Amino acid sequence: MQAPTSILRFALPRESLWQRLTGHGFGRFSAGDLLGIVPDGSELPRLYSLASGRRDGFIEIVVRKHPGGLCSGQLVGLEPGQTVRAFLRRHPDFKPGSGHAPLILIGAGTGVGPLAGFIRDNTGRRPVHLFFGMRHPDSDFLYDRELIEWRAQGRLERLTTATSRAAGPPYAQDALRAEATPVAEAIRSGARVVVCGGQGMARGVSEALEEILAPTGLTPAVLKEEGRYVEDIY
Ligand SMILES: Cc1cc2nc3c(=O)[nH]c(=O)nc-3n(C[C@H](O)[C@H](O)[C@H](O)COP(=O)(O)OP(=O)(O)OC[C@H]3O[C@@H](n4cnc5c(N)ncnc54)[C@H](O)[C@@H]3O)c2cc1C
Repeated sequence: MQAPTSILRFALPRESLWQRLTGHGFGRFSAGDLLGIVPDGSELPRLYSLASGRRDGFIEIVVRKHPGGLCSGQLVGLEPGQTVRAFLRRHPDFKPGSGHAPLILIGAGTGVGPLAGFIRDNTGRRPVHLFFGMRHPDSDFLYDRELIEWRAQGRLERLTTATSRAAGPPYAQDALRAEATPVAEAIRSGARVVVCGGQGMARGVSEALEEILAPTGLTPAVLKEEGRYVEDIY
């Protein structure tokens, strides 16, 4: 059976010396930026969150196949060696920020893509706690092997999963509530929050954080104003 979500990795486009010198090539990018893909049969580009940065040496996205979806259908049907028409769109508002402040990354489904990119890029080993919501670990545990490796390398400190069709907390916001005390303490001490996924999840996460943070006097709105809470919602 075709998995509902796939990790797709593309080679960097070849660029001439002239394109590089004049800045007309694909350019620099980092996880969280967007890849616009123009599918065959439509001039309307579809956007995908990048799960890799230029220094990884490849372009990675996580795609969920929409039933009847033009672009997602073409993407998951690609064979090795095939190409797509694509462009880069920067998304500077959706970044974990530099420095050593701990990160609380919260994502569900394809939303884990850019979060995986942030973890891969965490060579400075800032403390990162990933909350990852999925339907079932047997079919939807994207990056499972990489996450083990990144933990061993110190790029990821903790992983908490939520599984709506298996045991444990069903959704990312439930997993957050189950760890309310350490989450509130980390945010009170300066941790940044990064959320990626669908609108329902983002709303649920915001409501859970509102409750969790109540004793600290902080709110998601205050964190957003301070630039300590960034979201990519689609
Ligand atoms: C900022 C941003 C980031 C995003 N990041 C990601 C990402 O990382 N990963 C990801 O998978 N997606 C992401 N998306 C969504 C992505 O851009 C596309 O919208 C998605 O892949 C669907 O495109 P499609 O061409 O496959 O579907 P479309 O062909 O555009 O169809 C859209 C919907 O309409 C339905 N539909 C199509 N034709 C018909 C019809 N004739 N009758 C009834 N219904 C129909 C389809 O089932 C589908 O659900 C992101 C979107 C945004 C805005």
